[in-house]
Amino acid sequence: MTTLIESEDHKSLRAAVSAFAQAHPHTLNAEDNQRLWQDAAKLGYIGVNLPEAYGGGGAGITELALVLEELGAAGNPLLMMIVSPAICGTVISRFGTEEQKREWLPSLADGTRLMAFGITEPDAGSNSHRITTTARRDAATGEWVLTGRKVFVSGVDIADATLIVGRTEDARTGKLKPCLFIVPRDAPGFERRAIDMELNAVERQFELTLDDVRLPAEALVGDEDAGLLQLFAGLNPERVMTAAFGIGMGRYALSRALDYARERTVWKTPIGAHQAIAHPLAQAHIDLELARLMMQKAAHLYDAGDDVGAGEAANMAKYAAGEACVKAVDQAVHTLGGNGLTREYGLARLITASRVARIAPVSREMILNYVSHQTLGLPKSY
Ligand SMILES: Cc1cc2nc3c(=O)[nH]c(=O)nc-3n(C[C@H](O)[C@H](O)[C@H](O)COP(=O)(O)OP(=O)(O)OC[C@H]3O[C@@H](n4cnc5c(N)ncnc54)[C@H](O)[C@@H]3O)c2cc1C
Repeated sequence: MTTLIESEDHKSLRAAVSAFAQAHPHTLNAEDNQRLWQDAAKLGYIGVNLPEAYGGGGAGITELALVLEELGAAGNPLLMMIVSPAICGTVISRFGTEEQKREWLPSLADGTRLMAFGITEPDAGSNSHRITTTARRDAATGEWVLTGRKVFVSGVDIADATLIVGRTEDARTGKLKPCLFIVPRDAPGFERRAIDMELNAVERQFELTLDDVRLPAEALVGDEDAGLLQLFAGLNPERVMTAAFGIGMGRYALSRALDYARERTVWKTPIGAHQAIAHPLAQAHIDLELARLMMQKAAHLYDAGDDVGAGEAANMAKYAAGEACVKAVDQAVHTLGGNGLTREYGLARLITASRVARIAPVSREMILNYVSHQTLGLPKSY
């Protein structure tokens, strides 16, 4: 796939990542996956968006999304790229203290450390205004004390810390406002339980309990009074990166189906000559291209500093990519007939994996709600 809005530098980066990714066979083994992460980090791919002054590549979400898309297109979507460099790296770069930047950014960039991100709660779900994980300050020690529960948080076991979205009480209004805290993996009171997902992926999801987790004052990232703004700074890159995850996976599935359709012959010609097979694959390709254009637009707006414009564009790109991914995987599986469901061909497991792009980090319906209300000015039902 080529696009008009890609610079020569982007094209070379895409070619280099693609060659690197193709040389690393698809893996569901945790150790191989970790090696892939570290090799990609050594080449500067994982921290490509992080500031140069802290060991990163000094580029943007545009480049980071390109990296994830190409890894995914080779069958190795590194899910934690959505979280560690894109959300956590962005939030710390933009709002962290000098000390937090020095402590975290070089190791997130060189792949020696990872950070997970926890916002979803069992009783809040899509309604993140309802989150109840609470942070209070211990007046005697100045420490933060966090209490609450999170669910579906990816990679907590392999991450050195989790950026937890909590709330602090506004001294004047009594209202709870969102705040971000770095919680080390082994902090006392920070418990995790792996959720038994039907996903067949290297990264696992966890239910977390925070039971009076005591953190030093420096665990708070950014300004206590600008929580929402800081949160959105990380969520737009998250949506762009989820779009890249979906587009990469869709391309991978499509390429496997095309290989099969060119070869498999049960009548006179390969099955790819039948339009009933060819046209849905062509449609899947077009849908992935459309989604990629939307993703590139969102990434460019974000990198240009337009947080508001990027918000709408990133939501729409995530929607388009999620739908294109689900359809591409569905059609790819169907193209292989019975082999679509064998482990050997490895496409059936993508049926559940592709649904992640539709559900997380914000579901298809919540994006349709956003566009209905924010873009089209329609009234809210909830
Ligand atoms: C593989 C995976 C990895 C994840 N990783 C992370 C992570 O690292 N960190 C993290 O914090 N979270 C993570 N999540 C959580 C994810 O962000 C949530 O699952 C998602 O936000 C949806 O929330 P929910 O599951 O509670 O669904 P619910 O909010 O309960 O929604 C259920 C259904 O109802 C629909 N719905 C809800 N409200 C409305 C409405 N107003 N109008 C129309 N439809 C509505 C939804 O679209 C959805 O189809 C992950 C999830 C998955 C599956």
